[in-house]
Amino acid sequence: MNIIDGKKISAEIKDELKERVAALKEQGVSICLAVIQVGSDKASSVYVANKKKACAYIGIESLAYELPETTTEEELLSLIGELNRREDVNGILVQLPLPKTIDEDKVIRAIDPKKDVDGFHPVNVGCLNIGQEGYVSCTPAGIIQLLKRSGISIEGKECVVVGRSNIVGKPMAALLLRENGTVTVCHSRTKNLAEVTRRADILVVAIGKPLFITKEYVKEGAVVIDVGIHRDENNKLCGDVDFEQVAPLTSAITPVPGGVGPMTIAMLMYNCVASGTRK
Ligand code: NDP
Repeated sequence: MNIIDGKKISAEIKDELKERVAALKEQGVSICLAVIQVGSDKASSVYVANKKKACAYIGIESLAYELPETTTEEELLSLIGELNRREDVNGILVQLPLPKTIDEDKVIRAIDPKKDVDGFHPVNVGCLNIGQEGYVSCTPAGIIQLLKRSGISIEGKECVVVGRSNIVGKPMAALLLRENGTVTVCHSRTKNLAEVTRRADILVVAIGKPLFITKEYVKEGAVVIDVGIHRDENNKLCGDVDFEQVAPLTSAITPVPGGVGPMTIAMLMYNCVASGTRK
């Protein structure tokens, strides 16, 4: 069994991007990401700080907008409009979740699709589904990199995705299909879930329930990718997959932490670098 090292693979990607950014700088192209946070949610603040750190490492300029919880939808939309118009800003990221008084869908739609480095805008979601160029949601894009860089081929494989969220499950299914996998998507209404997941050569789990996937759900020799992140009763990080139980059955598996998690930021940086060169 191979433990897929997301920390190492994400570091490789960041180093490749750092070189690319340096080369772009020599051609006079600089890249700038605007990060907007509304309110002071603790987890969001950590994510935003990590994004700024990754930008600094790679050589991307970052503009931070830390707006108060009381910010109105109108004010946020007006800032996005201003950033859309600024030629020196290539990427715009609004940290989710937003306060309940603000319509998230409206905010996502307000971002210029060419600057939507999170890949959440309906135009980018559509491009992914019809095989056109656009930004792809970072977590599923990172999972494709984990598989490819671990020498795991997707073509012709039975791929089962558990979870159908807009940011993980659905784009994951579209990407696996684009890589010529045979894809099944499961969700809370799926009947006989274990029967379906046991068909998987590649099983991607994004349910949001700690240690949900036990050995009954996994075929011997499968590749298991665990997207979930939780803290258990001892404050230790764990995933949606019961790693101790499932790992011995698999041919390869991602751990939590150190699997999918670090890839999300690496792919955000990838999208930012692409934004600097996209017309
Ligand atoms: P959501 O809560 O948006 O979606 C969960 C999905 O799981 C839904 O489609 C739901 O089905 C399905 N589901 C829930 N219960 C079951 C069940 N019993 N059987 C089968 N399917 C079920 O979660 P996200 O996709 O946003 O995130 C999933 C997990 O991944 C979370 O733990 C999150 O923290 C983590 N995450 C990690 C990231 C990273 O960088 N590593 C990035 C993003 C998320 P239905 O649609 O029918 O309700």
